[in-house]
Amino acid sequence: MPSTARPNTIVLLSMGYDSLSTWHQLGRPAAVYFDVGSQYTDPEVDRYHRLRTAFPQLLPVQDMRWLGRQERHDRWVPLRNLVMTVAAAALGYDDIVMSAPSDWAPDKRLTFTFATSLTLRIAQPGVGYRVRRPFSHWTKAKLIAATPPKLLEEYAYSCYEGTEPPCGRCAACGRAIIAHLAAGREPPTELRPGLSFGELMDLRRGRTNGSRLAEASRMRPGELVYVPLRGWELLRAWDAYRRRPV
Ligand SMILES: [Zn+2]
Repeated sequence: MPSTARPNTIVLLSMGYDSLSTWHQLGRPAAVYFDVGSQYTDPEVDRYHRLRTAFPQLLPVQDMRWLGRQERHDRWVPLRNLVMTVAAAALGYDDIVMSAPSDWAPDKRLTFTFATSLTLRIAQPGVGYRVRRPFSHWTKAKLIAATPPKLLEEYAYSCYEGTEPPCGRCAACGRAIIAHLAAGREPPTELRPGLSFGELMDLRRGRTNGSRLAEASRMRPGELVYVPLRGWELLRAWDAYRRRPV
């Protein structure tokens, strides 16, 4: 396995497909999970503990439940990535890796990683802190396709409902279904046959997440960059979906 991990690298693991794949691509260096007390914490912590048994380079779960109270309706927790980044640095790591494939969140952008790297270097001169998101130009599908299925099947969890097994209906489950199809993999949750292209596309928004127009109006300027990548992923997913045996 080619490794581009540096000796003091740490990956911020959320146990979703993106971060687990990122961790794998870097040669499985140290990693850490921050428990923010979300609705979906339990299945994530359970998987992290199992992963840590197999990979002792993983740090113990870090309690950050006090931050979870800030979680918004779209599941974004303001300042989470900033607090996690600083905590990872304070734990003794100088190469801090975030996973952010084609992501809109302001605290996953290049400006964020650049500014936090600079702030950490100012706060502690002499340490070459680096915060990075090495696969930011990849889609979720590309990350999944480059990662052994077994690792993802055994340890990845991505469902906002926190159910076991994942609900298959929320936006996180929908995005996982589409990315798996586009990656040529079997989706992690059940996928009903006979969907139209629009219905397949709507899986990304989950059952209760508003109309396409509302989605467009919520789109941040930084997100526009990723529209072609996401469109490509969606077309690949649609092609794979149509070829599936019914
Ligand atoms: Zn779900």
